Amino acid sequence: MRCDHCSHDVPDGVFCTRCGAHQGTTYEFGNARTREHRYAAHPAEHVAQPSVITTLFPHLGHHKVHEFRWALIVGLAGVLVLYIAGLITAAILVSAFLVPVLYLIYLYEAQVYKDEPAVVLGFTIGGGVIAGIVVTLLVHLIYNPLANNPNPLGQPTINIGAVLLLGVLVPVVQEVIKPLPAIFLPNRADFPETVDGLVFGVAAGLGFSLAETLINFSSTIASLPAHVEPGNWIYPLATIAVLQPVLQGSATGMIVATIWRQRLGKLRGREIGGIVMALLAHLAFSGGGQLLAQTSINPLFIIIWQAAIVGALLVYIRYLLHHALLEEAAHMGFAETVCPSCHMHIVASGFCPNCGMALTAAPSHIKRSRRERDEATTRTTRRG
Ligand SMILES: [Zn+2]
Ligand SMILES: [Zn+2]
Repeated sequence: MRCDHCSHDVPDGVFCTRCGAHQGTTYEFGNARTREHRYAAHPAEHVAQPSVITTLFPHLGHHKVHEFRWALIVGLAGVLVLYIAGLITAAILVSAFLVPVLYLIYLYEAQVYKDEPAVVLGFTIGGGVIAGIVVTLLVHLIYNPLANNPNPLGQPTINIGAVLLLGVLVPVVQEVIKPLPAIFLPNRADFPETVDGLVFGVAAGLGFSLAETLINFSSTIASLPAHVEPGNWIYPLATIAVLQPVLQGSATGMIVATIWRQRLGKLRGREIGGIVMALLAHLAFSGGGQLLAQTSINPLFIIIWQAAIVGALLVYIRYLLHHALLEEAAHMGFAETVCPSCHMHIVASGFCPNCGMALTAAPSHIKRSRRERDEATTRTTRRG
C-alpha cells in the first residue's frame, strides 16, 4: 500500500513503517502525522504521560518496563521500611543509590553502549560522579550550611544570599558542567541517534546527583546515631530517592539530547525550548525549594512543588524525543524482526507497522540481529 503521508510503498499496517505516521488521513486522536497519542518509544502511552521509567529508560521492551517499575517500587518500599524502623543513615544510603544503580542495570540490559561498555560508562556515569564531587565540594567551600544557619531559634527568616547562591547560581553552574562528560565521549560518532544522547545525559546527571547527595549528607551520615526517631526524615528521603536524581538526570538528558540534535543539523525551536526548560525547571526546583524551606510551610508542599516540576520536565523530554524519533527514522531496509513493544513478528523498516514503535529506540541486541540478518539477505541476493 501507499502511505498517505510520505507517499512510499509500504507493507500493510496501522502505522507507516517508513515515516511512522498513522495510516489514513483521519485520526480520531488528532494529527495522524505526529500521532501524539502514541509515544514513539512506548506506543502504549501518550506523549504527555509523566512516567519516569518509560521516559528515562527509553530502550526497554514492554515487559522489561514492568520489571524496572517493580524494582523501583520495591526499592522505595525498602526505604520506607528503614525510615519506619528509624534506620535513617541506611535509608539515606539506599535512597541515594537506588535510581543510579537501576540505571546501570538498564544500560547493561539494553546494551546502549554497544561494544564499548568501559568507555561509555566511564564518560557518562563516571564523569558525572567526578563532576559532582568537584562542584559540590567547591559549593561547600563557599557556603557552609551549618555556619550560615539562617534561623537558629526556629524563626523563619529569608536568607536572600542562600537563595541566590543555592537556588540560582549553583543550578546554572551545574547545568553547564553536567553535560560535559557526555559531550567529551571520544567515540560518540558511533552513537548518532538522539535517543542515545538522551540516555548518556541522564547517566551523567545521575552520577552527578549521586555524588552531590553523598557529599551533602556526609556529615549527617557520619554524625547520626544508627537508630533515631523517624520524624520529618520522610521528606528529605523522598527528595533523595526520586525527585533529586530524576531532576538532575532529566535536565542533563534533555541538554545532551539537544546537543546531539545540533550535530544532526536539526536544531529547532523545540530543542532550544528544551534547554530553556531544563534550566528553568532546575531553578524552580532548587530556588523555589530554598525559598519555601525558609518559610514555615509544611514540607509536604515543597515535595508537591518539586514533583510537579519533575513531571513537567519528563513530559517535555518525551515531546522532544517523540519528534526526534519520527524525524530520524532512516530507511533501514525491510527486515523481519519481533517488535519489542507489541511482540508481533513484523517486516519493518523504521517503525513497527502494528503499534508504531520507533525501532531506533529498540535495545541494541535487536538492532544488531536485524543488521546481521539484513546483511545475510543482501549476500544471498547477490549470490543469486
Ligand atoms: Zn509514511
Ligand atoms: Zn509493535
